[in-house]
Amino acid sequence: MGLVNSMHDPALLFISTDLGVVIRDKYPKARHHFLVLPKSDIPSIYHVKRKDLSLLYELHLLAVNVIEILGMKTDDFKIGFHALPSMQRLHLHVISTDFISSCLKTKKHWNSFNTELFLDYEYVRNEIEVNGSLRRIDKQKASELSAKELKCNQCNHVASNMPNLKSHLLVHSKR
Ligand code: AMP
Ligand code: ZN
Repeated sequence: MGLVNSMHDPALLFISTDLGVVIRDKYPKARHHFLVLPKSDIPSIYHVKRKDLSLLYELHLLAVNVIEILGMKTDDFKIGFHALPSMQRLHLHVISTDFISSCLKTKKHWNSFNTELFLDYEYVRNEIEVNGSLRRIDKQKASELSAKELKCNQCNHVASNMPNLKSHLLVHSKR
């Protein structure tokens, strides 16, 4: 019940509306990393049906609100779902593309946000609109993506390991 408890944690709570809640990710993988969750008990994106698309739309609006509140640009963020979520309760990630964070440690972390293991909101919404729900990713494909080379998200650089990738990311940092 980690995320559901965190929805009530004042230290993490960022926005609350009738339908959804935005919390800070407890282990942020970038300078700005939030989760948008519905108040209704939907376990995961794989449980979202066509009838839930208006709720999904509301969650996405909350994600955009977060970026506005920060005074930042949507182009500097990724908004979407993990194809293999580890935590229960549907949650939409809102994450800045710097990926500068001490919590970003493993190749699995990197590839979960920077390969097809990360499903953009627009892709997911379209899949549910067209097919009625989101199809699960093939297990073999998921493990291949998870083990993929460490390619920078901002240039063509391929890093040999996580420490190298993390120092490379600083090259792109505006700060
Ligand atoms: P996912 O892999 O999509 O299930 O992502 C779960 C996210 O929840 C990760 O980014 C974690 O850092 C974050 N997380 C894990 N436990 C908590 C918690 N108790 N409160 C807030 N965020 C959490
Ligand atoms: Zn780069």
